[in-house]
Amino acid sequence: MSVKFEISFAKSVRLNGGLAILLKDTDSELPAGAESADPANVFAKAARIARFTAKGLSSLDIVAPEGSPVDRIFVIGTGKAKDLNAHDWLKLGGGAAAKIRNVDKVAIFVDVPGVEVGAKAAADFALGMLLRAYSFDTYKTKKKDDEDNGAQKTVKVTIVTANVVAAKKLFSASEAIADGVILARDLVNEPPNVLGPVEFSAKAKALEKLGVEVEILTEREMRRLGMGALLGVAQGSVRPPRLVIMQWKGGKPKDKPVAFIGKGVVFDTGGISIKPAAGMEDMKGDMGGAAAVTGLIHTLTARGAKVNAIGVIGLVENMPDGNAQRPGDIVTSMSGQTIEVINTDAEGRLVLCDALWYTNDRFKPQFMINLATLTGAILVALGNLHAGLFCNDDKLANELTAAGLATNERLWRMPLGKDYDKMIDSKFADMKNTGGRHAGSITAAQFLKRFVQETPWAHLDIAGTAMGSIQDEINQSWGSGFGVRLLDELVRANYES
Ligand code: MN
Ligand code: ZN
Repeated sequence: MSVKFEISFAKSVRLNGGLAILLKDTDSELPAGAESADPANVFAKAARIARFTAKGLSSLDIVAPEGSPVDRIFVIGTGKAKDLNAHDWLKLGGGAAAKIRNVDKVAIFVDVPGVEVGAKAAADFALGMLLRAYSFDTYKTKKKDDEDNGAQKTVKVTIVTANVVAAKKLFSASEAIADGVILARDLVNEPPNVLGPVEFSAKAKALEKLGVEVEILTEREMRRLGMGALLGVAQGSVRPPRLVIMQWKGGKPKDKPVAFIGKGVVFDTGGISIKPAAGMEDMKGDMGGAAAVTGLIHTLTARGAKVNAIGVIGLVENMPDGNAQRPGDIVTSMSGQTIEVINTDAEGRLVLCDALWYTNDRFKPQFMINLATLTGAILVALGNLHAGLFCNDDKLANELTAAGLATNERLWRMPLGKDYDKMIDSKFADMKNTGGRHAGSITAAQFLKRFVQETPWAHLDIAGTAMGSIQDEINQSWGSGFGVRLLDELVRANYES
């Protein structure tokens, strides 16, 4: 059953049935809120019998006796609560959300006795709940046996904390983050017959109601701009390509914008260099970069970030067809540089190179960060635990790495250099679109680097983290929305005026 949490904050709550969730750390005697939710001290006996020690994310489920102000008490262990970081609080919230079933109202006591649990922790806990509650079941028409109906169930959640005012304020930003992540997850999870370039561009256009300026370039306009690399990828599909430009102007007018560019291959068959059948359905997620950029612009706008931010996404479908581009074709990019297409399955970089050039040329941003499910090779290198980070600027790389640690959307920096760059020199054109199997993620990054000039730039290869990612306390979805929280944190920590 899909659950929707209606979250509010209060200093105290009048308990009358429902579920109470209490947090307890290893040092405190009793859990938070014990005096109001558990006056009969059922907890002490239950903890003894179950040998509950309150270590991190452990839990104790208690059916409250007659006369209790609630029906059930759920105690979650926090470990040493004073040592918890932001991501730990997200995980606790996600862990709590997973246990909320068959109940209409829940009171959650987050102020662990003897520990300064700030407003930020309460807001992070709530964000974890929202991220965990997400499930993509748009296309499931049959309910499972344990579900009373297929409809979404709304659960009223009251988070009890001494820091109500501050927590509420921070939570409005948390909601903006959750909505951005969920938008990105939805876009990645949507089937490819439903979400083509035109349909995706309409989803981006919908951000106008938040205050984003959205422009959509059609094939004709891209042709006029000379985007031969992007258009070459699209020419095998009956669905026309789109380039979407999103602008959020939350900073001072004179502030140079920050720019995020996303690969949006709505489906990647590989083209004439067609992929094997096994697992090809996953290639509906080859627009994970564009989804993250769209989700990020949603978040920055919805929380009113004091920054000028640009999002540019290149939307195409890569299909084999009588009109598809061939290995051996030479295309001319918007930059004027020519590219020999060696493998039509190395299409993401062909889309991004024109989107990067366009963004740099038009907006002169203070930095460009592109996100792309670019190479299978990054999975070989890093699995799905880190995204690959390629960067021409140490300051930006350090800021990104720090944001990755803060959000647990982790990055690992990979090398760039002129010896790798040589690997994409072509016999017939300025460059070729693959450097072969060895160092496949690095030569893909070298290719992109040829289109960014002197602008500080980072490429995040999210092929391992955007989809099919590890399911954890805050994500149970195939499409993870990776990148939204990371880049929101990057902006918040370094680029708001
Ligand atoms: Mn491909
Ligand atoms: Zn691809």
